[in-house]
Amino acid sequence: MAELVFFSGTMDSGKSTLALQTHHNHSSAGRRGLVFTRKDRAGEATLSSRLGLQASAIEVTPETNFLRLMTQALSKGETVDYLICDEAQFYEVEQIDQLARVVDDFGIDVFTFGITTDFRTALFPGAQRLLEIADRMNILQVEALCWCGKKATHQARIVNGVMVTEGEQVVVGDAGTNAKPDEVVYEVLCRKHHMRKVTSKKAKQEHMSKSALPFEDSIG
Ligand SMILES: [Zn+2]
Repeated sequence: MAELVFFSGTMDSGKSTLALQTHHNHSSAGRRGLVFTRKDRAGEATLSSRLGLQASAIEVTPETNFLRLMTQALSKGETVDYLICDEAQFYEVEQIDQLARVVDDFGIDVFTFGITTDFRTALFPGAQRLLEIADRMNILQVEALCWCGKKATHQARIVNGVMVTEGEQVVVGDAGTNAKPDEVVYEVLCRKHHMRKVTSKKAKQEHMSKSALPFEDSIG
């Protein structure tokens, strides 16, 4: 029975590593699969993991139509047993619906991987649609940790060193012709520290300014 499965987790929870491992396991068993991604950190048409593994992939754009792609592949006599879809939170809602039809109409397994919420703690539309219609959800067991050691459940966007909670849902690379593009990085935090906007850098600064107080040092 083919299935639409959603593997979710925060950034740094090993989703892309699991995507590559899943692809490896199925192809080793003689099954034929296609790998898709969108806006991977390594650039277009590449699925990469933080552990250094990577594979070539088909870049998904807003124009990608999974039903049409599968119809074309099958009519050319290609065998497709499964799809690996990384960064699925960035897919359009219609594309998630197309993936469900790939499962139902063609009997092809679709394994999707992605984060659920953005830096504002709101669901990405693609992730929301997966939560609504996937046959099965799987929350990754490798937990990313906040700087305080608690389980990290939220992603913070840090622009030029400052945590922000407003802005475009998806920020892509560089700012083009501007002389100095904003530096955008992400950090995973627990809910408390996300709500209080305490990033690891800020925690360190607060710690340092505290230990600089005259009395702190003299207390045994
Ligand atoms: Zn924390």
